[in-house]
Amino acid sequence: MALYHTHRPQTFDSIIGQHHIIHTIQNQVIGGHPAHAYLFSGPRGIGKTTTARVLAKAVNCVNKNDTEANPCNNCVSCNEINAGMSIDVIEIDAASHTGVDNVRENIIDNAKFKPATSRYKVFIIDEVHMLSLSAFNALLKILEEPPGHVLFILATTELHKLPQTIQSRCQRFAFSRVSEATIIDTLRGIAKAENVAVDDSVLKRVAGKSEGCVRDAVSLLEQLIAAAGGAVTDESVSMVLPPSTSEEVTALLQSLFQKNAAACLSLIQRVSTEGIDIAIFCDEAITMLRTLLIYAYQKNISSEHDPRTIDWIESTQGSVSPIELVRLADMLSSRRGQVGTAPLAQLPLELLVIEWCDSQEARNEKENQGEEMLHRKPPIEAVEPRPTGAKASSPHPTILDQKNTGHSISSFSEADVRKAFDAAILAIEKESPSLVYILKSCRVEQVNNTSITVAVLSEFHRDRLADKRCKKQLQESFSDSLGTPGIELDFVVEKSEREVERINEITHLAAAFGGEVL
Ligand SMILES: [Zn+2]
Repeated sequence: MALYHTHRPQTFDSIIGQHHIIHTIQNQVIGGHPAHAYLFSGPRGIGKTTTARVLAKAVNCVNKNDTEANPCNNCVSCNEINAGMSIDVIEIDAASHTGVDNVRENIIDNAKFKPATSRYKVFIIDEVHMLSLSAFNALLKILEEPPGHVLFILATTELHKLPQTIQSRCQRFAFSRVSEATIIDTLRGIAKAENVAVDDSVLKRVAGKSEGCVRDAVSLLEQLIAAAGGAVTDESVSMVLPPSTSEEVTALLQSLFQKNAAACLSLIQRVSTEGIDIAIFCDEAITMLRTLLIYAYQKNISSEHDPRTIDWIESTQGSVSPIELVRLADMLSSRRGQVGTAPLAQLPLELLVIEWCDSQEARNEKENQGEEMLHRKPPIEAVEPRPTGAKASSPHPTILDQKNTGHSISSFSEADVRKAFDAAILAIEKESPSLVYILKSCRVEQVNNTSITVAVLSEFHRDRLADKRCKKQLQESFSDSLGTPGIELDFVVEKSEREVERINEITHLAAAFGGEVL
């Protein structure tokens, strides 16, 4: 039996979320005065039918005394209802019984007779908005003057399709989506009961994916347990679960930062095939750009992001300048406005990709980048004539070409230092991916015998690299690569006048995004 059915709440107390509704209904049951007709509305899979069944049991339970609300789940009546065998609790799916004849036959005629063995005859009408107009009219008659032994529970996902006359005859309860925290707790309980170990990060992902729908969350967990065939870990989930929207958003931004149009376009294609709403996708991308921009100055990230996203946000520092973030956010906002009217929803986003990745500026940047080692254009002041001795015919500029100090004494060839950098990046890649971006964005300032001075983009980068363990690892890696023991690395923050100007400029722009610049 499916997990959702096995773990379906059987009492009011175990119903997930919806506390205000359950509390009211419990009080009515305790007082012995349930309403004659209830109308439960709200999205699918959040407990409307479950609540209806518990209510049907509670009003008919033989063991229950007047001071409690929960059915005993043990008496003849409770057992019959749990097994779906009770002749006094009639569940009708209005979606497949839309006609007036069905309503007359199944409800009106049936309601005239007293319940066979129970106190109440309970009609649970699911998806009630699907009934035809004449069926509604027939139903309305009996709702106006219901026999005392009848209880109606109507459920709908589309309240607005229900005639006002029907709505006004019922006690209405609007069920809401269940909070992520509550869904996580529920899933954890089910996993424990099923004796399966499930990572907390997986529970969070499943809860996020289910968008407040308990039924979806439980079904998804069930699929994951089946697929994993043991403990459900983050890795095993990645094989089954399509990436979340936030993962797709970060993947798109990453490719945009790298000006990789091909990767961007195939990602957009995938996103639209998966049925993700492009407008919402754009909104999330814009929100993420704002997060990056604020992080660039404040260095704090809201805890609402998952650890992967936080790691990614940290890793982007230095790979894209704040002014570029502003430019991208501007372009994205204006393309976002075209999504609703474009012949294809994804077209504006695709146009943005081309515009961004193939702009003259992007082409210049690519030319200047040459080696992947350098992810950015050096500040204008830094571009000075090549130091004498540098090979003018070198097909790609190298780190040493970029140095702006004319007086370094290098004991190593530029190729050697470049190799050392590559080796260090390779060594650190697995352990700490976020450092790779930082390393790629630095520039060799000066080489003096065994001491290498490296210019980094920000204090944050300097602190990361100068961290005791990291620095030691890097120095060892450089010593190995250069075949010289005792290489010492120094990190200095590079801030040219032009960059100070830029920062002042974007302070105003950042404020326009609701951010503050410290
Ligand atoms: Zn009972």
